[in-house]
Amino acid sequence: MDNPYQRLVVVSNRLPIVVSQEDGDWQIKPGSGGLVTALAPVLHEQRGLWIGWPGCSDEAPLDELFSRFSREQQYQLHGVTLTTEEVEKYYLGFSNETLWPLFHDLLGHCHFNQENWLCYGTVNRRFAEAIAEVSTKDDFIWIHDYQLALVGSHLRDLGIRQSLAFFLHIPFPSPDLLRRLPWKTELLRGLLDYDLIGFQTLRDRRNFLNSVLTMVPETEVLSRHRYYTLLRYRDRTLKVGHFPISIDFAQFDAAARSPEVTDAAWYLHEHLGGRQLVLGIDRLDYTKGIPERFLAFERALEKYPEMRKNLSLIQVVVPSRTDVAEYQQLKEELDGLAGRINGRFAEPGWMPLHYLYRSLDPVQLFAYYRTSEIALVTPLRDGMNLVAKEYCACSVERKGVLILSEFAGAADQLGKGALLVNPYDIEGTADAIFQAYSMPEEERLRRMTLLRAKVRRNNVHRWVGWFLAETHPHGEPHG
Ligand code: UDP
Repeated sequence: MDNPYQRLVVVSNRLPIVVSQEDGDWQIKPGSGGLVTALAPVLHEQRGLWIGWPGCSDEAPLDELFSRFSREQQYQLHGVTLTTEEVEKYYLGFSNETLWPLFHDLLGHCHFNQENWLCYGTVNRRFAEAIAEVSTKDDFIWIHDYQLALVGSHLRDLGIRQSLAFFLHIPFPSPDLLRRLPWKTELLRGLLDYDLIGFQTLRDRRNFLNSVLTMVPETEVLSRHRYYTLLRYRDRTLKVGHFPISIDFAQFDAAARSPEVTDAAWYLHEHLGGRQLVLGIDRLDYTKGIPERFLAFERALEKYPEMRKNLSLIQVVVPSRTDVAEYQQLKEELDGLAGRINGRFAEPGWMPLHYLYRSLDPVQLFAYYRTSEIALVTPLRDGMNLVAKEYCACSVERKGVLILSEFAGAADQLGKGALLVNPYDIEGTADAIFQAYSMPEEERLRRMTLLRAKVRRNNVHRWVGWFLAETHPHGEPHG
């Protein structure tokens, strides 16, 4: 890649590693997930650097593990340590109990706490100091996500003048919602210290622009372009763009066609009889709309009795933030709803709802994606939602129907091929389940062909390319 800088420095809350101990020996492996897949080749090529919180036991011999990692992966790691109190206040507190719900439009879940806000600032400062210590003026520094929004502004305080970029993986709220945050102006001004700010969708970009234009008087729009807006803030110019993140299409497509997945997919259907499978896969999180989805499924069985015994919902819930009371309550709510639905509709030989509270190994995950006739992806709000894109990439027979929330970032790109629903509309979602269930094969093929083409073309490697291209004075267009 032709870049004007010499090395890419990626900064995120967590380092992309899994540290474990096997038979007394410490092991370090690259983590999984789209961001690592997308950035590893660029980091590898440039002998880049990734800075973040290791998130593992203090006993792990990190220096030694990091050297081993950099020899094997051809890029370096640098750890930022956090105390237990900081994890509590900066991460669980301000990041996950204030910014996360507020940015997902769920004001009722927000806690506003001054101490957590102050600790957020302290930790962001610590990240900035770590970056300043290990980076050089020829590096391009790319900071990721809502936990680190103020790192750029701390870097400016520390005298760093080079180009700084930020990408927000979650949605950005409307000015009306943002106004509720007592520290909104500090947050917005902090973001304006970057040179390039990337959002997932046009809506997020507009929300940010409307917020700064109303709440930060020194900002002015210089020009608007299809994928970015040029802003002036005091004496600086910055680009605000939108870059929908994606997946490695080829990797998912190939995995779904592998012999192990083909066998596992066949077995799943064989095991569950000839009925259609509806798939839901989510982390346990109140933004994912899982209780609403269960209610819509229940309503669909009530309203369309012909689907009974002919369709089952497989809902995989991956445990997440299990030490937070709110997440435990959500789990209890799901347990109750699942029991009620099965108690109400199950018949010998047919279980309407298969509820799996655990993560899946990759072969199982790809097999479910490949074989399920319908995917139900209905978050109340989501930055992008990669499950929707992974389902399309794995639907190699092109017979799958994607039911997608209009409030997932993915709806911008996948809205034409998917059946779009409002997850708050239980009746409408129930009708969409029936529509998908009764959809003729030609229509399924037509829609899934369209969806796969979108995901294949706008894959994660292009996403990295689009973003890095915007760091050039004349960025390449994307779409
Ligand atoms: N996933 C996983 N293990 C599982 C089920 C899902 O690692 O058992 C992955 C899935 O493949 C996807 C990610 O979790 O890449 C979920 O990403 P998404 O954008 O849909 O939601 P997020 O959890 O990031 O809010």
